[in-house]
Amino acid sequence: TDATSEKLVELAKRRGYFFQSSGAYGGVGGFYTFGPQGASLKGNVEDAWRDRFAVAEGNMEIDAPTIMPEPVFEASGHLDTFDDMLVECPECGESHRADHVVEDNTEYEDAESLPIPEVEEVIAEYELVCPSCGAGLAGQAVDTFNLMFATNIGPGDSDPGHLRPETAQGIFVEFPRLKEYARNQLPFGVTQIGRAYRNEISPRRSIIRTREFTQAELEYFVDPEEDEPDLEAVEDVEVTLYPASEQNKEDGSELETTIGEAVEEDVITDEWVAYFLGIAKPWYEAVGVDMDRFRFRQHLSGERAHYAADCWDAESEIDGNWIELAGFANRSDYDLSKHADHSEDRFTIFRQYDEPKTVERATVDPDMSYLGPEFGGDAQAVVDELETLAERDRSAFDGETVEIELEDETHEIPLEKTGFSVDEETIAGEHIVPHVIEPSFGVDRLVYTVLHHAYREDEVDGEERTYLELEPEVAPTFVGVFPLQNDDELEEQAHEIVDDLRAVGLSVTYDDSGNIGRRYRRQDEVGTPFCVTVDYETLEEEETTVTVRERDTTDQKRLPVDGLAETLAEIREG
Ligand code: ATP
Repeated sequence: TDATSEKLVELAKRRGYFFQSSGAYGGVGGFYTFGPQGASLKGNVEDAWRDRFAVAEGNMEIDAPTIMPEPVFEASGHLDTFDDMLVECPECGESHRADHVVEDNTEYEDAESLPIPEVEEVIAEYELVCPSCGAGLAGQAVDTFNLMFATNIGPGDSDPGHLRPETAQGIFVEFPRLKEYARNQLPFGVTQIGRAYRNEISPRRSIIRTREFTQAELEYFVDPEEDEPDLEAVEDVEVTLYPASEQNKEDGSELETTIGEAVEEDVITDEWVAYFLGIAKPWYEAVGVDMDRFRFRQHLSGERAHYAADCWDAESEIDGNWIELAGFANRSDYDLSKHADHSEDRFTIFRQYDEPKTVERATVDPDMSYLGPEFGGDAQAVVDELETLAERDRSAFDGETVEIELEDETHEIPLEKTGFSVDEETIAGEHIVPHVIEPSFGVDRLVYTVLHHAYREDEVDGEERTYLELEPEVAPTFVGVFPLQNDDELEEQAHEIVDDLRAVGLSVTYDDSGNIGRRYRRQDEVGTPFCVTVDYETLEEEETTVTVRERDTTDQKRLPVDGLAETLAEIREG
């Protein structure tokens, strides 16, 4: 129910997970600050991502600037097309995403892919209203709005720049250097975890849609003809899939299968995408996403970028809605080709043949003493045309004359004036534009999901209790240490234990305020897996022992202090 989200957002603020930022100045939509617990949880999730997608896969990590010059986004296409549909309320003046207004109030599920006139028609037909004030939106013009934040680099406005709307461009742009670090060998992967900025028209649902957020992206560069993923490593991974074919049915349903079977039966058609779905699923499970509320959804054909043959999103269920956590796409040579077109640098890799190949190469060496007088200022254009023909269509040189088109006029040039010849050449390889497979993760939405899926309410000793059943690997605080009462000896002993636990790298909170029950509740709400209490028994015994309380069961055990830090550290490691 929505109630969980409401309670979670309240808990998040009270306990230091996240809250709207700049509250002292009234707050501003779409910007959130992660508090002490949230920053730590987010950091743990990012570390877990780095371990799996960079370190364990042998990929390189980079850290590029968040502001990039405008030509980067001219090349990438973002300047022209990174738009959302906007509709403004004639009454209150608020702007809304037109596709969201349609999706929220009609049976249309993918309004983003509809052309603008059709969206306007749907708004009129359904008499849709402004979500803020209820005024009718029929007849309002729907406009496009570019989501990039613009800025100027240096004084004046001669060098426009933009805050990056995704971390990916920072990787693509540096490809000519990154390939050197990879010793010019495909395949190789480059990851980046960092901030991205989108001037969302209507930020909503707390940290699920914000204007500044964190992405963790992997760009995996492959030779489309030579490289294959290690599908065996993931073939047994069980997944819930929601293929496009099912979404198109009235009563479409999800499919329980394995990665291996899904590839075999062509449900997932791109093997590289299948591989990354296969490593993503157990990773999501390990950081605490509830696998009963998790699926991979295939993009419908209208949603897909034209270059991507098969795209899947990881989705989690929040209050009955599915939200996108990550996108997985084979982007082919789209991004690198665009940068190659716009930049002088080389966005290719040399593919060495197993053995050198002998190839025929057609060349021309036109007779300028003939072309000059014949064509005057157009002579160079004729040369260019002949060169292109030699490369693309050798049969053009089969007759006595060669026909070329120049400004819609056909000219015949005697064959002997073209200097056409075919020579044999031995080549060791060729330059190819690598293809790229992109798993693109949103970190904030994942943090929200992890908290939401961990949210529990139960009753302990007749009292209602709220706790977060966070995985020990990501829990921001691992152990709380309490002296039972304010007593110098108990406090001193508790401080010693805090030092021991911190020395083995555990994140520890010391708390001596309020009664012990209150302190347990506080840690339960933060999701701290263990609490250690120092009491009078601790001091009396021969062997020093403490009470260790487990969060989920609230079971308490007496354990010796000796070896406690090591035992807990082992649990933390899993
Ligand atoms: P949406 O359709 O929800 O706007 P998108 O398809 O445009 O998202 P991508 O460009 O694929 O998103 O970005 C990759 C990931 O980045 C998303 O899966 C999501 O987790 C995250 N993300 C994108 N936009 C936002 C945002 N405004 N706030 C928080 N996370 C976001």
